[in-house]
Amino acid sequence: MSYHVTQLITGHGNFVSYLYGISRQESSDCTYSDARDFGKHTLFHCQKWEEHRGPAGITGLEPEGLTAYMLNSEDNWKAVEEFDRAPLRAREAEERRRSF
Ligand SMILES: [Zn+2]
Repeated sequence: MSYHVTQLITGHGNFVSYLYGISRQESSDCTYSDARDFGKHTLFHCQKWEEHRGPAGITGLEPEGLTAYMLNSEDNWKAVEEFDRAPLRAREAEERRRSF
């Protein structure tokens, strides 16, 4: 069993925080709107990432349902991981731009 899955099942820490690597985030604000909750907001509500939710299969999913959805199949797990990459990449690019 992988470290991440173990962490998930033991409930050690907030799952969304894990997804978005809270230690890497200076701020939890969304870059594209006024939302304060980067993790949940990005995954479930931000308009910026709406088009990515369909492929990830999380359209209409509630935050409480995410863990079960991901553990349901490896494809689901990978789809959410894939979704996770776009916002993180965009955010990292944004941070690099600011620091130069
Ligand atoms: Zn947003």
